[in-house]
Amino acid sequence: MAVNFLYPDYEVARNYDRCIACRACERQCANQVHEYLADANKMVCDDAKCVNCHRCVSLCPTRALKIMKSGNTYKENTNWSGKTINELYRQAESGGVLLSSMGNPENYPVYFDKLLINASQVTNPSIDPLREPMETRVFLGAKPQHVERDGNGRIKNNLPPQLSLSMPVMFSAMSYGSISYNAHESLARAAEELGIFYNTGEGGLHEDFYRYGGNTVVQVASGRFGVHPQYLNSGAAIEIKMGQGAKPGIGGHLPGAKIVGDISRTRMSPEGSDAISPAPHHDIYSIEDLRQLVYSLKEATDYKKPVIVKIAAVHNVAVIASGIARSGADIIAIDGFRGGTGAAPTRIRDHVGIPIELALAGVDKRLRDEGIRDNVSIIAGGSIRSSADIVKAVALGADCVYIASAALLALGCHLCRSCHAGKCNWGIATQIPELVKRLNPEIGYKRLVNLLTAWQHEIKEMMGGMGINSIESLRGNRLMLRGLGLNEKELEILGIKHAGE
Ligand code: SF4
Ligand code: SF4
Ligand code: SF4
Repeated sequence: MAVNFLYPDYEVARNYDRCIACRACERQCANQVHEYLADANKMVCDDAKCVNCHRCVSLCPTRALKIMKSGNTYKENTNWSGKTINELYRQAESGGVLLSSMGNPENYPVYFDKLLINASQVTNPSIDPLREPMETRVFLGAKPQHVERDGNGRIKNNLPPQLSLSMPVMFSAMSYGSISYNAHESLARAAEELGIFYNTGEGGLHEDFYRYGGNTVVQVASGRFGVHPQYLNSGAAIEIKMGQGAKPGIGGHLPGAKIVGDISRTRMSPEGSDAISPAPHHDIYSIEDLRQLVYSLKEATDYKKPVIVKIAAVHNVAVIASGIARSGADIIAIDGFRGGTGAAPTRIRDHVGIPIELALAGVDKRLRDEGIRDNVSIIAGGSIRSSADIVKAVALGADCVYIASAALLALGCHLCRSCHAGKCNWGIATQIPELVKRLNPEIGYKRLVNLLTAWQHEIKEMMGGMGINSIESLRGNRLMLRGLGLNEKELEILGIKHAGE
């Protein structure tokens, strides 16, 4: 007799008093959890297949469904949690590496939640953002150290290429392939409407989206999928991906099953073959090598596009950033260990890297100490969840933040963390045509615009409260932050005082 070691994580609770057997849940669940038994005129379900994406819950017309965490428990053991035991059983059965999606869910400190923002009282009065102008525009790129004037005393316009954003937020890299066409279209349209940028990720740029080039960052990753001169010249900036917060030190992998049709054409890789990005760029083993690539890309685009170098937040991130700032790159993007992914080995996602808050503060301080902070702008990413996180990131030294999981949530993602299975019931992390259709880009882009418009209002209110009328004045302004429940070392790295000081 077969022994089933694994009990389902979730139970699908159906209220039969409310269920009208309309079968909507059966049609909506790509995991085939629900089934209609015609003989009994009754719905039944197989809980073991449920990933808790809430699609059926959201679409049930009578609110008859609830997804519950399974009440089945192992004997209590602090060392061997139920999750650890289940993972071990899974590997004993499959012999394979565990895969996960989205960001690190483990119980590490979230430093953003231990930082508090200042507000003016009596002196340095606060500003009312409804009545007075507030500036959230930022420019990303290298800035000159001093102003130069010509013989007539006029300021020389000697700025290297800059990205101009209406607010300090960009959509982070998500490749066509890891997310759907409709998700990409939603991001591209929202970026255009908001005056910000979205990012192709490492999958190339679909021909339909060249029209959004003015609001697109085109990525060059180690696999060089979809990279050609027209691609490089179509974007407003080029990002070299050296690392990603969810999987520092390893490459990328898009299964062959997802390399179909347009995706294969866009990536310039054969249908059905796995797209594997190597862990390193095979032409980069030093800052000098990185410099070669930065200047090759600048040369290919006539020195008109800023170049971003994206790295994962790791132990010696400040030293690495110092090298990048000297490599000719215009912008450094740092991705913290909570950053999302379409697929990553679980152990890497959950145990490698460091929090973005500590990495960002360390990088900003090092570049200032070395007098090279203006050589580059800094983008911080890795689980930015709200406008308050943005304000805190800017005060810790970021010029701008990347958001990805938050953007997908706005599109309908329910963080079921099953993107790697390719059957996203919300039409986001999937290439199955019937599922892709569920995300209407017309609605999706408006939801993204709503989210960021709301965040922009909130940012202005927080700035006004601090008596600051320009986001540039908040950058690296650590006096606007206080820590709560942090030890001396953490406060030292963050460069802030404790609340009450
Ligand atoms: S969607 Fe709701 S009402 Fe319809 S069959 Fe499923 S549980 Fe019943
Ligand atoms: S996987 Fe999603 S749609 Fe399917 S039963 Fe679970 S919550 Fe419902
Ligand atoms: S994108 Fe889809 S599959 Fe991925 S976590 Fe969100 S809902 Fe789940």
